[in-house]
Amino acid sequence: KAKQQGRDTYAVYAEDLNESLSMRVTLRNELQEAIRQEQLHLNYQPQVDQAGRICGIEALVRWRHPVKGFISPAEFIPVAEETGQIIQLGRWVTTQTCRDAKQLLDIGLLTSRVAVNLSTLQFHRPGFVASLLDILKQTDLPPTYLELELTESILMRNSETAIGLLHILRDKGISASIDDFGTGYSSFSYLKDLPVESVKIDKTFVDNVTTDRKDAAVCKGIITMAREMGMKVIAEGVETREQFELLKGFGCDMFQGYYFARPMSFEKLVDWMKSGLPDSTK
Ligand code: C2E
Ligand code: MG
Ligand code: MG
Ligand code: MG
Repeated sequence: KAKQQGRDTYAVYAEDLNESLSMRVTLRNELQEAIRQEQLHLNYQPQVDQAGRICGIEALVRWRHPVKGFISPAEFIPVAEETGQIIQLGRWVTTQTCRDAKQLLDIGLLTSRVAVNLSTLQFHRPGFVASLLDILKQTDLPPTYLELELTESILMRNSETAIGLLHILRDKGISASIDDFGTGYSSFSYLKDLPVESVKIDKTFVDNVTTDRKDAAVCKGIITMAREMGMKVIAEGVETREQFELLKGFGCDMFQGYYFARPMSFEKLVDWMKSGLPDSTK
């Protein structure tokens, strides 16, 4: 019976594997169409300081498939990384972000940076900095308005090169932050050599910060250490007032999450930013 069960399990597993493989092939082909036919668009999620004022914006890519509807970036970014399509997709994301940021700047709304997420392949590709500077030039956005979100794994891979690149970017005025901090394998000691402006505490620690003492300890530890090293800390996935208050008490500088604002279209972002201004400037 056990053997029988084992074989069934295996058969099911093999089927799943096949299905997911063919699904990925389909996804790859459809993604190519999506990039070409402008099925992709960006959402923007504001980040706020301790007083609740906007202090940053993150660009998040969205794919509205003509038949399948909304597909999550968590699903298609890994495929795009595997196939190399992330290069093309990433270039589109960065260009569109800079264009939108420039528009915000021109209407007097942009007072902080706009962040884009980068994949390993993008960051470690020869010519990355040149192509980034090219996009900034094309869109006429001053580099100080751009921030790059990098993961620990991007920075761990070939860390000498990564540190070198970060210094070049910093010299150009472009800042960087470490995304999903605490979920990777980076050691605290290596963080001290990284020229990054901020670290983003991963949502998984924020989720239970008010109920789990260990998660609270992780958040507190990251905040204390990063601040001592001269970096800013931003908490991601803040959904409640209690999480916000507690993290603020720990000394967290910035916050991002549904409690303040969900990711939204560029048009909605403009309205959101306008409504946060004093009446006289609207
Ligand atoms: P991330 O960079 O860590 O982005 C934060 C994710 O958390 C976003 O999911 C955002 O919508 C979600 N989020 C923010 N606040 C809350 C909250 O309070 N509650 C909950 N439940 N979720 C919240 P999203 O947009 O689905 O993106 C998922 C991941 O996909 C991103 O994680 C990022 O790693 C990746 N991604 C998104 N856009 C791009 C892109 O243009 N390029 C690359 N390379 N990756 C991207
Ligand atoms: Mg991010
Ligand atoms: Mg993140
Ligand atoms: Mg995350």
